[in-house]
Amino acid sequence: MIADNLQTIRTLITDTAHNCGRDPSTIKLVAVSKHHPAASIMEAMAAGQNIFGENYIQEAADKCHTIGKGAAFHFIGHLQSNKAKLAAELFTMIETIDRYKLAKALHSHLEKIDKTLDILIQVNIGRDQKKSGILPEEAKDLLKQIASLSRLRPKGLMTMPPFTADQTKTRSYFKALRLLALELGAENLFYNNESIELSMGMSDDFPMAIEEGATLIRIGTAIFGKRPLNSSQT
Ligand SMILES: *Cc1c(COP(=O)(O)O)cnc(C)c1O
Repeated sequence: MIADNLQTIRTLITDTAHNCGRDPSTIKLVAVSKHHPAASIMEAMAAGQNIFGENYIQEAADKCHTIGKGAAFHFIGHLQSNKAKLAAELFTMIETIDRYKLAKALHSHLEKIDKTLDILIQVNIGRDQKKSGILPEEAKDLLKQIASLSRLRPKGLMTMPPFTADQTKTRSYFKALRLLALELGAENLFYNNESIELSMGMSDDFPMAIEEGATLIRIGTAIFGKRPLNSSQT
């Protein structure tokens, strides 16, 4: 089932990209495996998937340990500074940087283990009180502060827009994130300002996110099915 779901999504990514004049190879699929067992991740790996998204540090650590090498993990949950050490070790990208204190804590652990780490700034593009991330107008100052942390490579922006049934609204949030990224890129605030990563779009809205410029889409349910009920969802 996981292999079939991945195939369906890959086809949709390719078709959507072609229809809006984008190169499908510029869009990476992050398979969100939170609350799903290591066995499901390995099933996806056998079907060619190699980037996974996790929201909880300890859960991710356990699964990484079971799986061993061969997969890259992105952290997409809320990160507490006191978990920075484990996060610095486990992940190839942390998509949810929203404060300097956290960036600094990560940086000091990265220095100790001699590693550099790709990060994204999480932006609360819809000013939703229930969502984490910094406000759009705060992104510039945070990126300026982070520029002094040489072990962190700010590659772009990530967002999770407020839930709404109104597709026009969702599209306007995706568009706003891209425009913000362009504005910040014009001031050379990213690691590579010619190619800025935009992590946006989930199971229900990823084709629209691709049309609006997403380079990373984070898909859970459409790949792995519903998350187990006994676990809190983020
Ligand atoms: C859970 C989660 C996703 C995946 O959501 P689905 O609707 O299952 O595709 C994407 N991004 C973040 C930040 C998440 O927490």
